Amino acid sequence: MSNIRSFVGQLLFVATAGGWFVAAPPTEWRLRYADLAVAIHLDRSIVGDVRLALDRSGSAPLVLDFADSMVVDSILAGVRRVGFERTPATIRIADSTLAPTCRALARATTRCEVRVWYHGVPSRSAFGIVDRGGKLRAASYGVPKSAREWWPTLDTPSQKMDSAEVRIVVPRGIIAASNGVLQAHKTLADGTDEFHWAERRPIYADVISVAAADYVERQGSFKSTSGRTVPLSFFVFPEDTLKAAADFAVVPNVLAFLERQLGAYPFGGEKYGIAEMMRPSFREHQTLPSLGASLITGDGSVAQVIAHEAAHQWFGNSLTVSDWRDIWLNESFAEYMAWRWVRSARGDSAFGSLSRGAADHDFAVPLARADSGGFGTMFGALTFHKGPVVLVMLEDLIGTRAMDDALRSYVTRNAYGRASLSDFRESAERASGRELGWFFDQWTIRSRVPEISIEWSYEKTKSGGRIRATIAQSDSLSPFRVPLRMRVVSPTGNARLWSVELREPRQEFTLHVDEKPTDVKLVTDRTLIRAKAAP
Ligand SMILES: [Zn+2]
Repeated sequence: MSNIRSFVGQLLFVATAGGWFVAAPPTEWRLRYADLAVAIHLDRSIVGDVRLALDRSGSAPLVLDFADSMVVDSILAGVRRVGFERTPATIRIADSTLAPTCRALARATTRCEVRVWYHGVPSRSAFGIVDRGGKLRAASYGVPKSAREWWPTLDTPSQKMDSAEVRIVVPRGIIAASNGVLQAHKTLADGTDEFHWAERRPIYADVISVAAADYVERQGSFKSTSGRTVPLSFFVFPEDTLKAAADFAVVPNVLAFLERQLGAYPFGGEKYGIAEMMRPSFREHQTLPSLGASLITGDGSVAQVIAHEAAHQWFGNSLTVSDWRDIWLNESFAEYMAWRWVRSARGDSAFGSLSRGAADHDFAVPLARADSGGFGTMFGALTFHKGPVVLVMLEDLIGTRAMDDALRSYVTRNAYGRASLSDFRESAERASGRELGWFFDQWTIRSRVPEISIEWSYEKTKSGGRIRATIAQSDSLSPFRVPLRMRVVSPTGNARLWSVELREPRQEFTLHVDEKPTDVKLVTDRTLIRAKAAP
């Protein structure tokens, strides 16, 4: 997409008082690689040294995202020390400063290398550091736009690097974990240790992980469908080793389920790990999700969260959205896969209770703009309830086999790259042989959910009887198109399901039955329909 955007940008004509001129092409800076060294101290400060490799086209300044709470000590471009401007939450380096240090690549692109030394106390919300009786416990919390709180970068998911390295310096006795594979562990002369990790698959800034503590590391392995034996590495606080061993025993089962559904684990050449953290939450850092200590109970109740985080390795990390407005493609897909794992492990009734009641939330924001309400809508009922139920409804509409084909082709075709709803829609349409624009439009662009009521009457006929059901929906100006099921219960207690499709504000359906039913109801489980009493 970036090439198309830049081409369109060159065609932009801007009107000014003096006439017409061609606007300068938009900045094209592409972050290709980061080598990030961070020393973490018990007083909550960090000292960083970040090398970035960036591709430059055009002549706009380089503007790195970096929180005001952090202090930039100096910057090198190539081997030259360069000046910079600190603007709110950014570092700005003029193109005239950078350009002479960059080397030519193909066509109009040059490769620039920038090195930033910095220090400061990062925001607790993005990088927690705790002194626990003289022992350091630290963890990044890679929610959207959090990388900039502790290292200078181009902090957007569209800036997916080819690879990244992370070097973490911690007091001796502390273990530091990160993405990918451990390259080296060095004991330094000043009483610190350095752990050097490398992620050789594409990765974006927010899912870079730093996790350091007085960890106990538990290793295992998982036999992938790719034929590989994938290392499992669990970094656990010493007081939680027994509970973690019980809770994490489910990981191979979860990964095997996800591989059956989606194809081989995308980072099988590296590892799958979990790092315990102090924050009572969870986050999908690439190859090393973080899991809060309070969730690790030993009773297995965290299994659904483990499945959600594992599913993010496909939805979010291998396939990355270009813009946070599409965050439901990460969160709702990961949660839907966690629900599917619950269904496979615990049965339909456990699955049913997850999807039930989703429509009772108040959805003021459409799924396709899940970023617009901030964190509350990015990580709330919209993405964790509405989104997964939209996927359940799609599965019910096109069938489980087509749904599974759609998911698998979507993750295969977009692996290690960027993905958008149109990519998934294309896979779903191809797998089902159906046009699905109406489905995605009504559930992702509209914010409301339909309220639907049913009235019915029975009349005897020569051959038995007939139910006339009138189904009405709240939105008469632009009615939803909703496949529905009616549950008809006979006097002997037998229930039969009838499928109909509502397209009009008000529609009548006739059902032929043998005897007068005792009840006729809409089945609203697994849907975003609010059943309303008939007026
Ligand atoms: Zn998530």
